[in-house]
Amino acid sequence: MPRKLVVANWKMHGNLSANRQLLEAYIQKLKPLENVDIVVCVPYPYLAQAQSLLAGTSIAWGAQNLSKDLVGAYTGEVSVGMLQDFGATHVIVGHSERATAYCESDENIATKFMQAKSHGLTPILCVGETLIEREAGVMEMVVAKQIDTIINTYGASMFANAVVAYEPIWAIGSGLAATPEQAQNMHEFIRGRIAAHDESAANSLKILYGGSVNSQNAVQLFVMQDIDGGLIGRGSLTAEEFEGICRAAN
Ligand code: PEP
Repeated sequence: MPRKLVVANWKMHGNLSANRQLLEAYIQKLKPLENVDIVVCVPYPYLAQAQSLLAGTSIAWGAQNLSKDLVGAYTGEVSVGMLQDFGATHVIVGHSERATAYCESDENIATKFMQAKSHGLTPILCVGETLIEREAGVMEMVVAKQIDTIINTYGASMFANAVVAYEPIWAIGSGLAATPEQAQNMHEFIRGRIAAHDESAANSLKILYGGSVNSQNAVQLFVMQDIDGGLIGRGSLTAEEFEGICRAAN
């Protein structure tokens, strides 16, 4: 069975002293879990802190966004090379909180995905539908468009060894996770969509579920065939809860 991947998304939480405590607790509690890969995506200013505390441990670190451009007059942006300077191995792209607040288009997100992938970082592409879209039964159409923008612009091989996180927008931070069946159905759909173009890329791709995962519901989600792990927001902010989720994946 392929190893599961659990990614913490701290969003805009933390400060130097709280981060130190949380990362030290992660290191101690997660050390015995040898069958799961763990990544923590921190706010940009704390990449150096993550690097200094996590280097030499089995926990990797990453960022929550990157620029679609490599260098230049883009005030406030952070490039893929800058993330690599701090040892980041992963980067979240297209999180719905950013896509909504900063009007990020699928095309912009596709370019960020390509920049990360072609410079050796693992992109974690977030896709998912709103509640209205699910109730209207168009959730697969919405997710297909997000995936197809990358396939049509850069080719399906971009997905080889990458990560997609299916995050229904209605489940994020709501306390109402998708059912294991709802998540499995969408994960299978995503893998199939990519496999239709490039089967080996689809098989090497990890598809995470994100949206109100906690230590109580994690096992039921992670046992599903196409659920390769989780993207965890709130549940990553306390070491005990995150440990429970990582144990479920382990
Ligand atoms: C997220 O925003 O990526 C997320 C999954 O959040 P939460 O776990 O808090 O629903």
